[in-house]
Amino acid sequence: MDESKIAPAERIMSARTRCLEMLDGLLRRPSWVVACTLFVFLWPGASPAADNQPYVVRKNDTLSSIARSHGVSMNQLLEANALSRSGHIRVGQRLKIPQTPSRSASIDETSPPSGLPSSIQAEMNRPRIIPGRWDYIVIHHSATPMGDAQSMDRYHREQRHMENGLAYHFVIGNGNGMRDGQIVVGHRWAQQLNGGHLASEALNARSIGICLVGNFDKDRPTRRQLESLDAITEYLMKRCRVGKSAVKTHQQINTVGTRCPGRLFDEGAFLRGLN
Ligand SMILES: [Zn+2]
Repeated sequence: MDESKIAPAERIMSARTRCLEMLDGLLRRPSWVVACTLFVFLWPGASPAADNQPYVVRKNDTLSSIARSHGVSMNQLLEANALSRSGHIRVGQRLKIPQTPSRSASIDETSPPSGLPSSIQAEMNRPRIIPGRWDYIVIHHSATPMGDAQSMDRYHREQRHMENGLAYHFVIGNGNGMRDGQIVVGHRWAQQLNGGHLASEALNARSIGICLVGNFDKDRPTRRQLESLDAITEYLMKRCRVGKSAVKTHQQINTVGTRCPGRLFDEGAFLRGLN
């Protein structure tokens, strides 16, 4: 279950992320940095882009953050969309993401081997990860018998007032609402945003959140869910250089008492099974 309810803190953290992005850009790129600061302020309405699909601009996106999260250069993104550096982007605008040799090369370089479907692995490979960005991988259940990433996203935006929506970086379906074992890569992963799944904002800033749909106080996770969880966790451990001891359940890491991910989630067996 998600724990964060402090939208203002989240705003501060996302402003901090934007500042880091800008600083990073200043250090690595020439004078068009000014064009990177085209923040957008309207409300989002679409899902993350898959391969060859247009990317729909979301609140707080910048051209530089979009370029970086898709592994393309700013110039390639501008060219593909006939945009000028002084142009503006708006929420809901569809941007073509260029397929480039450099993009494939960067994916190959950063891609640890995994049992993940290739489309999911490609989506997970896309963002550039700052070394040391993540310290923990945290497992949750939704505490509901059914669910999907879209309705969780809506709930977190509308009921929990989280401006970045879906509090987790990844969601794994149980066959009720999403396919059994289906993985959804959230936009917090695509944009390397802090999670919103823990009570502590300091931990949210360092912890990748994975949510399995289901109420594991009443039912066990499905075999396919556990296979997907293993594959994602092993990928993340390698890609983010996180050790097994830093893979935690919500209950183990939270600063406030919680039973998440439920008494029927066997964390011992899960951890023993990780390679
Ligand atoms: Zn939880």
